[in-house]
Amino acid sequence: MRHQQRSANRLVDVAIDRRPQPLELRAAIDHAKASALLRDRQSRPTLIANRMTASGFECRMKGKLDMAGALNRIFRCEVCGNNQLEPVLDLGAHPMCDDLVPVGDDRRCKEYPIEILFCHRCVTAHQRFQIPKDELFPPSYHYRSRHTVDVLNGMKQLVQACIDDNGPLEGKKVLDIGCNDGSLLSIIKDAGASATFGIEPTGAADDAAERGHGVMKDFLTETVAREFVQRFGHPDIITFTNVFAHIEDLEAVIRSLLILSNDQTVIIIENHYLGSIIARKQFDTFYHEHPRTYSYTSFTFIATSLKRRVAKVVFPQRYGGNIRVTLKPEATGNGHDASGEVGGRELSFGAQLKDMAREIEIWKRKKRAELNAAFARGGKLSAKAFPGRSAIPVKLLGLDESILAAVYEKPASGKIGHYVPGTRIPILSDDAFDPAVEKGPVLNLAWHIADEIRAYMSGRGYQGELIDIIAPSNFEDAP
Ligand SMILES: [Zn+2]
Repeated sequence: MRHQQRSANRLVDVAIDRRPQPLELRAAIDHAKASALLRDRQSRPTLIANRMTASGFECRMKGKLDMAGALNRIFRCEVCGNNQLEPVLDLGAHPMCDDLVPVGDDRRCKEYPIEILFCHRCVTAHQRFQIPKDELFPPSYHYRSRHTVDVLNGMKQLVQACIDDNGPLEGKKVLDIGCNDGSLLSIIKDAGASATFGIEPTGAADDAAERGHGVMKDFLTETVAREFVQRFGHPDIITFTNVFAHIEDLEAVIRSLLILSNDQTVIIIENHYLGSIIARKQFDTFYHEHPRTYSYTSFTFIATSLKRRVAKVVFPQRYGGNIRVTLKPEATGNGHDASGEVGGRELSFGAQLKDMAREIEIWKRKKRAELNAAFARGGKLSAKAFPGRSAIPVKLLGLDESILAAVYEKPASGKIGHYVPGTRIPILSDDAFDPAVEKGPVLNLAWHIADEIRAYMSGRGYQGELIDIIAPSNFEDAP
């Protein structure tokens, strides 16, 4: 039932395959018609209606999910099956970080709990409550990879490492799951790959298709995987960059990956690393879009489920600290077993997450006092950049339109003209930010890429102080 509903809502961009299609897909061949079809069929109310039915279906079939309102509730570890999960961090209720209400609209954002459970067996952090993916990633989802230099640089490094490890891309077929606007696929194509494909459920899929990649506009499911293989064959390389944490139903994705891969397929997964979250106290990455945060140990379990081995693990120091694993078929020889050097230090992650709960209270007190003092000196503050994750510290600090005048985003950002979720703070274009008038301080919400933001603001003529919303010194007990 779920798959039938899905296919009725799905648009396959047929930039590559122009064979006759079933009736509903044939209409999509005409790109102009396709856009109209997309708007008609993928309107948000339809998707939400489908989700309600689908979630109920999952509850009955699996017995592991529970409807808590519109939420799925986790009772056991989705990576290793352990049902002894320990609550380690409760951040309270928050709006979804991409729930952007247009300026002038009086709609209020719904709030959902953020409570982290920890699996000591496979060292994975889970959201206890998961918002169904159709609600988290509607067609109107705003994020685009191409707007963040740090993300693009990381993609270039990933492609170079892939070539170094697995040989030239010439003649290779590459599939990027959650390809967003096709930024990674374009780098892969420029590096010589013969065919580039993406699977992407949001409106970003249209951007990727326009850049010449073969895109299936949908979530990765077993049905989509079968259709992909039928039409395009098995990929040589499958990549997941910063989307593996977004997966709602991990077991279904693993089944889908088993369908997509053959005995040669290399799977490369890069994601933020639980160890870096803990080391830099990046509690703001525990937003609803990330139902899970992984360790190296997590990926050893996932590799086994995929009948693969971890052939390589590296920890790129970008975007706050990532983990990149290369999974290869078991038959292709011994992998690098990093369990000794990495697995050992991961044993303390559970205890460190519990410490973080206490440290967050210290940060809250010190940061709010710092901002109140700045407000007392010069009135309402301006803020720079709205990465979705910053919705969490904004809420925890109780920041609203009474203390922040506006948040400024790059002029091309789709977030402009909306309110910061849960507030009436408008998001404006950097073009409306006048460095001659703004004496500062300006609050930097993109604290995880503080150097990029400082260089950018300086380049636009701002010479005043930038206060990072989260800074290491804020967690220290001293006054
Ligand atoms: Zn586990």
